Amino acid sequence: MLPFARVTIIGLGLIGSSIARAVRATMPTVRLTGHDADAQVRARARDLGFCDDVTDQAGAAVVDADLVILCVPVGAMPAVAAEIAADLPADAVLSDVGSSKAGVAAVLAEIFPHHAVIPAHPVAGTERSGPDAGFATLFDKRWCILTPAADADPVAVERVKAFWTRLGAEIEVMEAKHHDLVLAITSHLPHLIAFTIVGTASDLEQVTQSEVIKYSAGGFRDFTRIAASDPTMWRDVFLSNREAVLEMLQRFSEDLSALQRAIRWGDGDALFDLFSRTRAVRRSIVEQGQDDASEDFGRAH
Ligand code: NAP
Repeated sequence: MLPFARVTIIGLGLIGSSIARAVRATMPTVRLTGHDADAQVRARARDLGFCDDVTDQAGAAVVDADLVILCVPVGAMPAVAAEIAADLPADAVLSDVGSSKAGVAAVLAEIFPHHAVIPAHPVAGTERSGPDAGFATLFDKRWCILTPAADADPVAVERVKAFWTRLGAEIEVMEAKHHDLVLAITSHLPHLIAFTIVGTASDLEQVTQSEVIKYSAGGFRDFTRIAASDPTMWRDVFLSNREAVLEMLQRFSEDLSALQRAIRWGDGDALFDLFSRTRAVRRSIVEQGQDDASEDFGRAH
């Protein structure tokens, strides 16, 4: 049996349009309605046809939904939630896909005290955005973390679990605050480091921009993929997950200072030990199917 029959997606960018495409592929009888604040995105979504209907107003998109998923940047969640509050059916389940959870969950719980609110975070994505960037297999074998409140309706949790399982995801349930700490180290800090390295390299005066680009295959270009991610999305993630990111950044700064000391004092053993440990981490990621083993990310040479 299908977990939901009428699904509404608000925000038709990379994640929203990927969910729509994946629903089409795995649950073709589900009726899909979409809405986006941007008229050009709505027009493009209509052309691409991944929803049965795309509405001009957020409220009109949710009136007969049994699942509504907010797929907008974290900073836009409160405004969207307020926009749909009057029209969300009492028995509809409300979810979101925000990359940080505690702040969004608090806002949704306040605006929807009587609805089943089951926040989720599919840990899958690319550096691209917009309705053309989505694809149906984005969530295949990727983790989707649900962060329901302790008193959330267990039936609604099971239905949202079943929904993401149908889309190919593996499910984990955790507390929102813990999610934010885990993602601060696995996602938010790596992005911050990539933004920093790419920013620093492009600010250098002794080395020209053209040299940075020309010799980027030495490692730099792998950071540029992450640093090309959507600016609005990432600004909102850092503002909403401030404490966890600052805590991880503190740890990172201490480890960086230790590395700096090892280089200064010629402590080759310390460097070798660290690099051996980090190589093993890469092996574990490949072994657990979270990346494939192709060398150099499968680039053709
Ligand atoms: P995206 O491709 O930029 O799509 C977001 C869409 O939401 C855009 O079309 C945007 O329109 C629209 N939007 C903004 N404010 C809105 C509002 N008030 N009402 C309705 N639509 C609005 O972004 P995305 O990558 O799909 O990210 C969406 C959410 O998924 C974010 O919360 C992000 O944290 C989360 N997420 C992202 C990834 C990832 O790798 N990208 C992974 C997991 C979760 P305009 O841009 O034209 O204003």
